[in-house]
Amino acid sequence: MTKYIFVTGGVTSSLGKGIIAASLAKLLQARGYSTTIQKFDPYINVDPGTLNPYEHGECYVTEDGAETDLDLGHYERFLNTFTSQANNVTTGRVYQYVINKEREGAYLGKTVQVIPHITDEIKRRITLLGQKNEFDIVITELGGTVGDIESLPYIEAVRQLKWEMGDENCLVVHLTLIPYLKAAKELKTKPTQHSVKMMSENGLNPDILVCRTEEPLNKELKRKVALFCNVTQDAVIEAMDADTIYSVPLEMMREQLDEICLKKLELPMGTDPDLSRWKEFLNKLRYPKSKVVIGLIGKYVELQDAYKSILEALIHAGAVNECKVEVRNIHSEDLTPKNAAEKLRNLDAVLVAPGFGNRGIDGKIDAIRYARENKIPFFGICLGMQMACVEFARNVLGMEHAHSTEMNDDTNHAVICMMEEQKNITQMGGTMRLGAYECKLKEGSKAAAIYGKQDISERHRHRYEFNSEYLEAFEKAGMKATGINPATGLVEIVELPEHPYFVGVQFHPEYKSTVENPHPLFVAFVAAAKEARNRNGNAEKVFEKSVAGN
Ligand code: GLN
Repeated sequence: MTKYIFVTGGVTSSLGKGIIAASLAKLLQARGYSTTIQKFDPYINVDPGTLNPYEHGECYVTEDGAETDLDLGHYERFLNTFTSQANNVTTGRVYQYVINKEREGAYLGKTVQVIPHITDEIKRRITLLGQKNEFDIVITELGGTVGDIESLPYIEAVRQLKWEMGDENCLVVHLTLIPYLKAAKELKTKPTQHSVKMMSENGLNPDILVCRTEEPLNKELKRKVALFCNVTQDAVIEAMDADTIYSVPLEMMREQLDEICLKKLELPMGTDPDLSRWKEFLNKLRYPKSKVVIGLIGKYVELQDAYKSILEALIHAGAVNECKVEVRNIHSEDLTPKNAAEKLRNLDAVLVAPGFGNRGIDGKIDAIRYARENKIPFFGICLGMQMACVEFARNVLGMEHAHSTEMNDDTNHAVICMMEEQKNITQMGGTMRLGAYECKLKEGSKAAAIYGKQDISERHRHRYEFNSEYLEAFEKAGMKATGINPATGLVEIVELPEHPYFVGVQFHPEYKSTVENPHPLFVAFVAAAKEARNRNGNAEKVFEKSVAGN
């Protein structure tokens, strides 16, 4: 029978429930248990696809084309396994399903209520992945903080499941904060006590407490927390602030979070976790031998979470190259043809980010022109690739007003446009080319060399496409389409073979980069940045301990 672990959060948001859930899953996986993680989000949006990145950070996309919470990205990066639509459920999705059923008459004249109808639907969805007989353990992260009104149906659903399944099959790990008061030189347990109390008022008691803290928790304090929060003494876990999220699985192993979970779930300890590859990655990340500075050009750069997967993929690629990747955020709105040289001069490479809409678009085009003309390694992702095509059309092919029809519907050279099939769709959300599509790489291309094969599959999230009517002109002038969708003929990759590294991809390679499988395009891009830095004589050795990102 599949066992369930719930990860809840207390005291404040942003304590890193996703990372704790992913770290625990990693350890259980390393002990031989097939484990997956799912996230339940208490907001009314049906999915985060239509949410502004300022609201909710990046929208992560799974193989099956689900637009999901960015925590699913962490799950995949840690576990090195795919997630799916079933791994992310929102309140909006739950209600939509229940309301549709009500309209179909499925409740036979009954009053449809939060309890039992909404809670039953939550329970059904929680146990859905477990019923596939694929997983020994399903970890469910509950979004939000205990005490939020919108979390109540979820807490109630978990309470019922725990009652039905028994404590040995259903575990609650509560992530909380033990703040350190500098003036008093003391760690304070009261907020944790209150959040546990609030949860137990709703009938649910945590089994394990993971305590975020800036200072180590001594035995006495752990005992106090255990006593007042009614958990066993070994179930108070210290989670010190970490220099990188990738050290958290090792910290949790040191604190025996996995062992305590298995004990409480009455499961054997399994094989001793072999995290040697993970440790090797961490070592390379912490002790880089060189450094590169990469400019990330986007319109949400002030918000770290908006480009989460890209930043993580750069960290993975940096470790492979034993090179610290310093990301310099450049707001596309701040770039003009006049200042591009000054703003980009000290960069070893330029990455133009995905995005939607017109804001900052000219700055992106200016940055691409500068990178192309000055032979600075360039990597364009989705909108970044589309704008690389627009820039090429304007400045190489002389099509002065070339554009994407997303930005200018009346352009006389629509080098990026919407495909016929998409034109009739008016509803927002789910109208895009989403999820995994196959792509065939041209023999002899940079892309084929980087991937080391010709048949690949990558995830998409966009409405607009390269307009193939222009392909011949582009290729003649030196921009080659080196990746083609075999089913539709759509252009998925463009390259400039004459440039040290100029690659634009219509898909999102960042979604598939994991610790154990860093994405080849990011690895090659960082390597190209390293070469550029050497060429420019900027290379200096970095010996000190350093950690990228986070
Ligand atoms: N806005 C562009 C499109 O819809 C690119 C999307 C993206 O960068 N993810 O095609």
